[in-house]
Amino acid sequence: MDKKYLFSPGPTMLPPEVLLKMAEPIMHHREPEFERIFAEIREGLKCLFQTKNEVLIFTSSGTGAMEGAVSNLLSKGDKALVVRGGKFGERWGEICKAYGIEFIPIDVDWGKAVDPKQVQKALDSNPSIRAVYTQASETSTGAKHPIREMAEIVKKYEETVIVVDAITGIGVFNIPMDEWGIDVLISGSQKALMLPPGLAFAALSDKAWKFVERSNLPKYYFDFKKELKSAQKNQNSFTPAISLFVGLRESLNLIRKEGLEAVFRRHEKLAEATRAAVKALGLELYAPDSPSNALTAVKVPEGIPGGKLKSLFFEKFGITVAGGQDQAKGKIIRIAHLGYYGRLDMVMVISALEMLLKEMGYAFELGTGVKAVEEILMK
Ligand SMILES: *Cc1c(COP(=O)(O)O)cnc(C)c1O
Repeated sequence: MDKKYLFSPGPTMLPPEVLLKMAEPIMHHREPEFERIFAEIREGLKCLFQTKNEVLIFTSSGTGAMEGAVSNLLSKGDKALVVRGGKFGERWGEICKAYGIEFIPIDVDWGKAVDPKQVQKALDSNPSIRAVYTQASETSTGAKHPIREMAEIVKKYEETVIVVDAITGIGVFNIPMDEWGIDVLISGSQKALMLPPGLAFAALSDKAWKFVERSNLPKYYFDFKKELKSAQKNQNSFTPAISLFVGLRESLNLIRKEGLEAVFRRHEKLAEATRAAVKALGLELYAPDSPSNALTAVKVPEGIPGGKLKSLFFEKFGITVAGGQDQAKGKIIRIAHLGYYGRLDMVMVISALEMLLKEMGYAFELGTGVKAVEEILMK
């Protein structure tokens, strides 16, 4: 029998509670029952995003909300600053380009976090920058960016907002939107929210809503103003992914029951155990200085082809891990631990890693990584 496990940083594994809810007969999205669910979801999302403002929900993958955060915030002739430390940072630049927005990139070496001083410098020398686009956690490299520090800097500029793609940050580590002064905070369903792909989320500060008021870039489906009006009536502007909404209510319930603080601590523990294990095996982290608790990117040892290791995970154990993209292709594997993951899941994935490395000729003592995981979990 082939039992399958997802250890990819999206989509992630799903709790049975959520799966069962989504399997129920579908309801109509203009019925009072759906509106009640919508109202509950709105409250749950505000707690999760740690904001008093509305969290907009779109039926799309996470990139939809990213696109909306360009087309709704900016106007023709505006300039943007883009933190480009991996594939998702590059995506911000690509979206800007598609909307004719000139952007200044801050290119960060893959695996590194951006230095907030560079943001300060760029804003000082380019007063026409209206928005700073960044990731909280750059999923392609496993690095975490200093959001609090960047938000602190951008706050001083009345005519500039900070937009944070926290698709692998929200529900993983603390990003209190209002407290830190984040202007736009974005998430997606298939990561720490323990849902299938298909929903994107965006919350806006009062400052950001002023940008939306004057924005003149074209938009239709991802129209933040239109969606805000609908949300306030517990509606979507278009047919929402109804089953995902029903699942979302359940996953938000699970998060609320565990408690946000406990959710963050669990992710920290899983991440810490995974990092300790790969180090004990003599492997290096791809983002050693500022690793995200969402996933662990591991450098594949010399002489071992990363692509092969990734496919053996699946062939031998039914485990999906992610490989590297572009310049990291074949050089890293990425092990996710965001969302519905418990302590013993990490024992399993590290055990599989050990067996595969052994088979591929890497020299170490079997059990070294598993032992390191157990030691962290017992602390
Ligand atoms: C998954 C992810 C996205 C969204 O990708 P989609 O394929 O559109 O869901 C965006 N940013 C980051 C950092 C991600 O991890």
